Amino acid sequence: MNFIEAINGLAKLSLREIRKKVREIKNELPHDERDIITFSKNFTIPLSNYCINNCSYCYFNHRMKTQNEIITLFDLKKIKKLMAKAHQLNCKEALIMSGEHPDQFQIVKKRLKSRGFKQFFDYLLYICKLLLSKEFLPHTNVGYLSYDKLEQIKDYNASMGLMLESSQPRLFKKGNVHEESPGKRPDKRIEFIKNAGKLRIPFTTGLLLGIGESMIDRIKDLFLIKELNDEYEHIQEIIIQNFISKPNIRYNPKTPIAIGNIIKTAGIAKIIVENSIKIQIPPNLITGYEKQFLKVGIDDFGGISPFTRDEINPYKTWPEIEHLKKICKAEGFELKERLPIYDKFIRKKNFMSSQINNVMEFYCNNIS
Ligand code: SF4
Repeated sequence: MNFIEAINGLAKLSLREIRKKVREIKNELPHDERDIITFSKNFTIPLSNYCINNCSYCYFNHRMKTQNEIITLFDLKKIKKLMAKAHQLNCKEALIMSGEHPDQFQIVKKRLKSRGFKQFFDYLLYICKLLLSKEFLPHTNVGYLSYDKLEQIKDYNASMGLMLESSQPRLFKKGNVHEESPGKRPDKRIEFIKNAGKLRIPFTTGLLLGIGESMIDRIKDLFLIKELNDEYEHIQEIIIQNFISKPNIRYNPKTPIAIGNIIKTAGIAKIIVENSIKIQIPPNLITGYEKQFLKVGIDDFGGISPFTRDEINPYKTWPEIEHLKKICKAEGFELKERLPIYDKFIRKKNFMSSQINNVMEFYCNNIS
């Protein structure tokens, strides 16, 4: 079977066929792994929402915010307050996010200068080190970074992330979602993911569904991610994230993506990567359909915060862990907390720096 036939074959699978195949795949895991679903207890630090891109579905970047909602540069005092609360609530992962290259904007540059930093990256690095010194495990996702910068920041991150979203070139054409987003160019995203692989950074990527791509596009991208992982073996999870409509954004599709298509994509992702990469679903975006996602082989519910919001979808609140636990139990799974670096990468050579290892030792003894 050639590649095109394989893609078409996957696209035609029914949900029943997908469920059957993923059961077989999961059964290849050792007994103590196959019935486990994971999540990470985290808190979010939105360092800046200035962004050089202007994706038409975005609700995070500064253009979408009212004056008092704009984050030019997240204040250090506020970060310290968040850390204190995160300690109280036993969060281990600090998700650091930002618009891409915020220091391309004069206002951010000025703010950085007033705090003694030359560029945004210096501030980012400083925050990662600060978090580690307080026994949090940073996971940075701030858009494209050069190889040199990735190399510098690797030692201070348990894992890092960058969504592939979609590599479909049509999305860059006039009137489409990435028309004004040079940073979303697939060659740049792929280069970034490759560089993370060369540097042995445990990595998160994923697809954004419902932004003008087709099922065939999604399947091609899943094969692309698989190929990157086959080469570098560094991708720990693939997020299957659906676009959610929000007030006042430019992207407003007549028909939102059907839940059945999201479930199907998650199942196809599992069939393509089998057990080599975990499949993650953000539980706040698929409320009411968790069981169906478990049946198509998802492995993980991602970062769930007890006190900070989902900055990308602020109207979608996080579910209670106890609620998810019950759903998992009813389907024969056990919901367990994990760290932002998966166990597999803790064991793999050179994927964890000594700085991360110090914090890990603390958590491995204390995680429930
Ligand atoms: S790159 Fe991210 S933050 Fe920037 S506009 Fe696009 S979705 Fe928004």
